[in-house]
Amino acid sequence: MLDWEIRIVTFITNTLVLIGYAMLFNWLQAAKFHRPRQKKLRMVYLIGITVAFLLLFHVASILSMRQAGNKAGFGWTYINFQISTVMFALLKARSWKTFNCLALLMIIWFWWLPDVSNWLPLYVVSLALMLVAKQFGAQIVKQPLYYFPFSLVFALPIFTMNAISLGGINVGWLWQLGTCLVINVILWMVQYFELRYTKTQAKLRQEARRDDLTGLYNFRVFNEDLQTAYQNFHTDPKRGYALYTLDIDHFKQINDQYGHLVGNDVLQQVAQTLKQLMTNLEYASKTYRTGGEEFSFLLLDAAANFERAIEISKRVHDALGALRFTTDEGETFQITVSLGQDRSILDDKNYLDIYNRADKYLYDSKQSRNAITVRGVIFDFTQQHRVTLK
Ligand code: GH3
Ligand code: MG
Ligand code: MG
Repeated sequence: MLDWEIRIVTFITNTLVLIGYAMLFNWLQAAKFHRPRQKKLRMVYLIGITVAFLLLFHVASILSMRQAGNKAGFGWTYINFQISTVMFALLKARSWKTFNCLALLMIIWFWWLPDVSNWLPLYVVSLALMLVAKQFGAQIVKQPLYYFPFSLVFALPIFTMNAISLGGINVGWLWQLGTCLVINVILWMVQYFELRYTKTQAKLRQEARRDDLTGLYNFRVFNEDLQTAYQNFHTDPKRGYALYTLDIDHFKQINDQYGHLVGNDVLQQVAQTLKQLMTNLEYASKTYRTGGEEFSFLLLDAAANFERAIEISKRVHDALGALRFTTDEGETFQITVSLGQDRSILDDKNYLDIYNRADKYLYDSKQSRNAITVRGVIFDFTQQHRVTLK
């Protein structure tokens, strides 16, 4: 029997190395590579670190056998880590490239193990288990009830091979299976915390893009989308876009008269109505709350059709004007909005040029309120006539 002290110290240090491997693997798998070449190489990196750690465990086990002066040495204490590394890579990467590389590595390993004459059937069993890990990795990782039994079954053919090769087990089956299970509990926890962390991150990222009150995209996203639309248009002039920006008239009065909560309700209903209107349009669109009671929407890949722009502006103006709001006291009221619209122009030098124009047209509408200004042409609904500014 081996010394308990050495067994335990080897176990702890190897566990730390394995945790390091799992975290490095997770980090590489989730890393945001900007260069396409690096994205393509991701799988190569993942396989590379897996092979490197497997070799590290292998070399360490050989050295320990040499040092112990017998063919078993501390080899048994290392094999768990090698098996867990293989299983982890398959469960996580779930790619044929990883599977093929590890299948090749395993055949070398099985073939290399001394004193095993009939290793092929055991290799086939191992290969089948590797295939199960690759195919059903996502389900196995999610369910501890599958994960832990699977990790033990996964280890069995390799344990058997090793036991045949070394003429028995010098650490005891209880220690071997127990540590195998402990290692997999730890690996599962690494997975679990990783998953929880990425979920929280995704939720926070999502929240940072939305306005809390209305659920619409916020100014940050508006700014990003405007830049993207500008770049797309300048690389492909067929991908024109239009920007509509609108502001509720005399909104402060609503707050003052009916209270802030009623004001919030108005903002929510306006947002809902805008979203609804956008789904019925023929263009891809995105709606934003760009300020307190200011909303904008972008129509993407939109033709520069002036008449259609007027129709859309009027439809938005009318739909919002038709909304009826009722306070807790039973009072009802309606709103009017002012709107400015413009479309992308190839002469624009900056992605914000279109926003400046639409904002100026919104300002023109604000001169009378309850008006829309489409590319400089005002439709004033207070007087119901068309005024041309330029
Ligand atoms: P105008 O017709 O010129 O647009 O006048 P207005 O009163 O609509 O515009 P003003 O900029 O004077 O006031 C906007 C008001 O919107 C002031 C601010 O308190 C209110 N506001 C901004 N954000 C919110 C919000 O989230 N909820 C509520 N209830 N009010 C808000
Ligand atoms: Mg306003
Ligand atoms: Mg305003």
